[in-house]
Amino acid sequence: MILGNDPILLTPGPLTTSLATKQAMLRDWGSWDAGFNAITGTIRRDLLEVIRGAGTHECVPLQGSGTFSVEAAIANVVPRDGKVLVPQNGAYCQRILKICRYLGRAHVALDIPEDRHPTGAMIDEALRADPSVTHVAQVHCETGTGILNPLPEIAEACARHGKGLVVDAMSSFGAIGIDVSKYPVDAVIAASGKCIEGVPGMGFVLVRREVLEKCQGNSHSLAMDLHDQWTYMQKTTQWRFTPPTHVVAAFRAALDQFLAEGGQPARGARYAANRDALIDGMAALGLRTFLPRTVQAPVIVTFHAPGDPNYSFKPFYEKVKQRGYILYPGKLTRVETFRVGCIGAIDANEMRNVVSAVAATLKDMGVSKMEPLKAAA
Ligand SMILES: *Cc1c(COP(=O)(O)O)cnc(C)c1O
Repeated sequence: MILGNDPILLTPGPLTTSLATKQAMLRDWGSWDAGFNAITGTIRRDLLEVIRGAGTHECVPLQGSGTFSVEAAIANVVPRDGKVLVPQNGAYCQRILKICRYLGRAHVALDIPEDRHPTGAMIDEALRADPSVTHVAQVHCETGTGILNPLPEIAEACARHGKGLVVDAMSSFGAIGIDVSKYPVDAVIAASGKCIEGVPGMGFVLVRREVLEKCQGNSHSLAMDLHDQWTYMQKTTQWRFTPPTHVVAAFRAALDQFLAEGGQPARGARYAANRDALIDGMAALGLRTFLPRTVQAPVIVTFHAPGDPNYSFKPFYEKVKQRGYILYPGKLTRVETFRVGCIGAIDANEMRNVVSAVAATLKDMGVSKMEPLKAAA
């Protein structure tokens, strides 16, 4: 892979993109141009194929970072008098709860420890306990820790109770299989700068058509109105407001590479090999993962920080960066951790190089006690 001299991003968005993806941004497009709008059209078509939603769902792209699309999905799919159940095991689940508060949508959290995932039985019980819930909002891969939440059994539980399901698949889309032809999902949300390996700047919501048709009037916000964006795009092929043209062009290039690689199964396999090389290499240094292997998605890995008094994240980060790699801080409050992304235009060899950079850095810093400190109470 040709990546140039920039440091490799081991952050789960923005991430390291290929040269071909970067080169696709070296052209200015007009937003009225038929050539540009044709690109938007093929992107919308190809994204639906990724979740096998071609006949049943519609792809509505939206300007902005991923959160804009999560907020838009909740604002549009959940009616103003609806109520959202959020099975909660990390930072991005908490963000959905925050969105509900901002939007004034009634909501209830189902709190689960950060190293555990919800099950179909837990959703069953929560929906039985509160029949006023109309929708479940679920994060697929919780990027705060890297845990994989089991979408098929959660979707089946929602279907048994006749509840809608909105899935934040931001960090799983394209890497972990999602099949809306096998289990019902009302809306799947993701963005350009994650596992499809584009650059950040646009999100998209794949909404079940019969749900989308009934969304008119739900959104409190013009810019976030997916129903309006969709009807305008269907009529004109254009985006309602200025599109992020370079981002869209790069995303088309990234999707071409995704399809050439073999789509989701191949992408997921490359990321799994990245994760395994990373975890094995770090384990050989004595560094332990926060999650058990059985629930660890191939997207981002949370490691316990070494308990050695010579360790602190800031200088560790700076020294690993000098060796060519950008790490990610931990997002847990009770234990000291750091995170390493496995996604982007990188392979398992690169991950082995990351481990070498970490080993050399820890040696430099005089860190030898890798055993983590005990969690704060
Ligand atoms: C990246 C991500 C988002 C969106 O974050 P932005 O910073 O708005 O792009 C939302 N949910 C999950 C699970 C994510 O990984």
